[in-house]
Amino acid sequence: MRHDHLITSKQLSRADIETVLDRAAEIDDDPSAVADRHANRLLGLLFFEPSTRTKMSFETAMKRLGGDVVDMGSVESSSVKKGETLADTVRVIEGYTDALVLRHPKQGAATMASEFVDVPLLNAGDGAGHHPTQTLLDLYTIRENAGLDDLTIGIMGDLKYGRTVHSLAYALTNFDARQHFISPESLQLPREVVYDLHQADGGAGIREHDSLEEVLPSLDVLYVTRIQRERFPDEQEYQKVAGEYQIDMETLEAASDDLTIMHPLPRVDEIAPAIDETECAAYFEQAHNGVPVRMALLDLLLREGGDDDE
Ligand code: ASP
Repeated sequence: MRHDHLITSKQLSRADIETVLDRAAEIDDDPSAVADRHANRLLGLLFFEPSTRTKMSFETAMKRLGGDVVDMGSVESSSVKKGETLADTVRVIEGYTDALVLRHPKQGAATMASEFVDVPLLNAGDGAGHHPTQTLLDLYTIRENAGLDDLTIGIMGDLKYGRTVHSLAYALTNFDARQHFISPESLQLPREVVYDLHQADGGAGIREHDSLEEVLPSLDVLYVTRIQRERFPDEQEYQKVAGEYQIDMETLEAASDDLTIMHPLPRVDEIAPAIDETECAAYFEQAHNGVPVRMALLDLLLREGGDDDE
C-alpha cells in the first residue's frame, strides 16, 4: 500500500484493503511482535469534533506500537479560538509529528488540510463526507463474521449524513457484495454517491428501500447507523425521522440465525440493549477492532514514510 494521505475509501483498492486487514489480523494474533516498532514516533491528534472510539483507538494503537501522541485538545482550548486557520494549524503540528489524524465538522476539510502537509494525514471524519479508517475496521469485522465475498449487507438509518456509510459503500464495491440501503426517503444516500456506486459496479449490487422487512431475511450483515442529529439544518426535520428505524428482539425473528449486526457507535436508540446479549451483536467487537486495524494502518504508513523498513 502506498498512499501519502488517507482521505476517502475511494482511494483504496481491494489489494490495499487486504494488505491492511491481513496486517491487522497478524497484529491481533501477536501484538507483542510490534510493541516497539514505532518507538519515538509521534502521532498528532486534531479533533475539531467530538470523538470517543476513533480518537482513543488511534491513541491506543500508536502507544501499542511503541510510539506516542500529541493532542491538540479541545477546540475551545486551542488557538483555533483565536482565529487560526486549519491550514496554519496543520502546518504547525506536522512539524511536531510523524503523521496527523484529523476530524473536522466541515466536509472536504481533510482534503484541504492534506494539501498543506507532507506527513501522512488520515481523515478521521469530515462532516457528512468520509471516514475511511472506520471503513477498514468495519471491513475487518465483516470479514471475520460473514466474509467479504458473496455478501448481502443491509445498511440502514441516516444514509444522507452518515459518513461511515458513504465510506463503507464505496469500499464494498471492491468485493462481491449486494448492498441494500434502507432509510426514510429524506435520509437516502446522496445522489452523487448512488451514481458513483452504480459506476463502480455496474449497479448490479445496489438497491434502495424504505423498509427493512422485505430484505431482512436475506441479509448476512445489518449495519445500523445513528440519525446524525448534529448535521440537520433544522431540529424539526430531525424530530420527523428520530426513532424511525429501531432493531429489537422482535425484529430478529425474521432474520437469519447467522445475521451479524454492526453499528459504528455511538448508538442512541437504534438497537435495543437486549440485542447486546445475542450472538448477532458485533458492534462492541467492531469498536475493539479499531485498535489492531489502526495499528496496521499506522505501521504501514509510518514504515513507508520512515527509515525503519524491515
Ligand atoms: N462515530 C461515527 C462517526 O464519527 C458514527 C456516528 O457518529 O454516528 O461518524
